[in-house]
Amino acid sequence: MDFKSFIRDVPNFPKEGVVFKDITLLLQNPITLNETANALLKLLDGQKIDKVVGMESRGFIFGPMLAERLNAGFVPVRKPGKLPSKRISETYNLEYGTDTLEIHLDAIEKGDKVLIHDDVMATGGTANAACKLVEKLGGEIVQCNFLIELTFLNGVSKIKDYPVKSLLKY
Ligand code: 5GP
Repeated sequence: MDFKSFIRDVPNFPKEGVVFKDITLLLQNPITLNETANALLKLLDGQKIDKVVGMESRGFIFGPMLAERLNAGFVPVRKPGKLPSKRISETYNLEYGTDTLEIHLDAIEKGDKVLIHDDVMATGGTANAACKLVEKLGGEIVQCNFLIELTFLNGVSKIKDYPVKSLLKY
C-alpha cells in the first residue's frame, strides 16, 4: 500500500518554517487505518510484547491498535499534570527550553517486554524520554517503532541503544 500518498505536508505548522506531517487522511480511511496498524505490527517480526507504551497524543492512536493485535496492555506516557495516580517524570531538552513526560509508577512491571510507539520521530527527544521512563520502572525495551521517521533530524542517534523501526522515512 502506498501509505505516503495519505500523508499530507502542512507548511508552517505549528510554527513558521516547520513542515508538519499530517496523518489524519490515513486515519480517516478505514482501509489505511487498519493496514497501517497491520504494517506497524509486522515491524516487530513476531517478538513478544507485554506492554505498548504510546506517547501523548498521537501515540494514543496506533498504540492501542497495536496492543490489541499483540494481546498486550497499553500504557500512556503523558504531558505533566495529566496522569492522576503516582507517577515518575523525565525532563528533556528542546531546541529552546525543556519538556517533561510522565508515566504511572505501576504501569510497567519489572521485566515487562515493552514496545515504544509514536506517530512521528523527529529529533528523538520524546522517544528517548519515554525509553528512560520505562527503564526506570524495570521494563525491557524490545523496539521503538514509528509510523514516520524524519531521518534528516537524525533522531536515531538519541535512542541508539534500542532497536528502532519506522514504516515510512522522509
Ligand atoms: P521529537 O521529540 O522526536 O522531536 O518529536 C516527536 C514528537 O513530536 C512526537 O510525539 C510527534 O507526534 C510530534 N511531531 C513532531 N513533528 C511532527 C510532524 O511533522 N507530524 C506529526 N504528526 N507529529 C510530529
